[in-house]
Amino acid sequence: MLVPMDLAVLANRNSCLTPELALGWRIGQHVKEFFTDLDQVRIAVSGYPQLVPAMRKIAVCPAPGVVTVPQAARPWDLFFFHQPTGTSLKVVVLRSPMLLSPRGRLLEKELARDSDPRLRALYQVELDGLIASILIGPVEDFCLLQTERCRLLSRDVGKMPARCPWCWAQAPKAMLEVEGRRCCPQCSGLEPEWWLLREN
Ligand SMILES: [Zn+2]
Repeated sequence: MLVPMDLAVLANRNSCLTPELALGWRIGQHVKEFFTDLDQVRIAVSGYPQLVPAMRKIAVCPAPGVVTVPQAARPWDLFFFHQPTGTSLKVVVLRSPMLLSPRGRLLEKELARDSDPRLRALYQVELDGLIASILIGPVEDFCLLQTERCRLLSRDVGKMPARCPWCWAQAPKAMLEVEGRRCCPQCSGLEPEWWLLREN
């Protein structure tokens, strides 16, 4: 299977090319087009561990290779946030398109019992087919994509409401607007280290 050079380098570094790594590379291509450039795009990864090296490869903000990996679970696998425009893109990976075909899964089970090279070759064909479909197919076939606009309304203590209108948290430190909904930083869904980055 012909693999793009930068993905081949990534796979070498991670010892093998997996569907998850291929998907990370494919999503990376998509977000580069979506945001035009990634100079001011923050990236968070909460899903498959192999998405982390793929995102580190494209991350440049706040520094090359830096991505946010939240300790707690999040309702998305990847989250991109463009600070100047407040545009966010959330990605949820669909589980079933990432699975091997029934034949591939059967071969995988057989390989666990018997490491016959012929079985391994057949399994590799199935795996290559899945990876190829990820690399050439529309990214929407493998993920749900959701975009939102988020802007910082105020950090002026005098203008702050006593409570967040959504979670009722007292004395919010800032107010934001997400798709027309006024809320505190916690309710915005942004990662805590991203909250107060925008000045306008
Ligand atoms: Zn709130």
